[in-house]
Amino acid sequence: MTLKLDQSWQAVLDKLKTWARINSPWAIHFNSGSCNGCDIEILATLTPRYDVERLGIKLQGSPRHADVLICTGPVTRQARDRLVRIYEQMPEPKFVIAVGSCALSGGAFRGCYNILGGIDQVIPVDVYVPGCPPRPEAIIDGVVKLLAKLRGADPSDTPMVFDPDSAGEAAILAGEDPVGEAAHDQREEEAIA
Ligand code: SF4
Repeated sequence: MTLKLDQSWQAVLDKLKTWARINSPWAIHFNSGSCNGCDIEILATLTPRYDVERLGIKLQGSPRHADVLICTGPVTRQARDRLVRIYEQMPEPKFVIAVGSCALSGGAFRGCYNILGGIDQVIPVDVYVPGCPPRPEAIIDGVVKLLAKLRGADPSDTPMVFDPDSAGEAAILAGEDPVGEAAHDQREEEAIA
């Protein structure tokens, strides 16, 4: 059923939908050929230590309930059709985040006989999160950039590519923890309390 609303009500409805979408991005995770390194980082992102539910992000088991498809690994010939099927089962509007160097370009598996390449060789990708594997902070950063894109923020404020000059990302590249041990301890105490 399609509702016919006048322009002002349609604008209010669109704003309401965007608000709801930004505050509750439900995600589904698909491994199209990863070594599992990136998948472990995604699992770590979902634990109370990083607590992505505070951003409204929830992992779903069904593509029919998900807004965001989080993909890891290069696309193997065997996984290609399954990846396309999952993407097609998601309702519009849908978004894709490619996590890890393999998901970006094939990474360590590039050129193998059974590899088609990165995720964007098969389905459109909205946000790329590089790293082998990317740390949870980088994955959260990717999700936040996707939400900023949905909000219509200035892309120069929220670059859709990894920015090695920013303090947090420079720390990630150096193998440091950009959040800081004290902040982690505080979150753990809050999670336990
Ligand atoms: S990017 Fe690294 S950790 Fe992730 S799937 Fe590829 S090889 Fe594994």
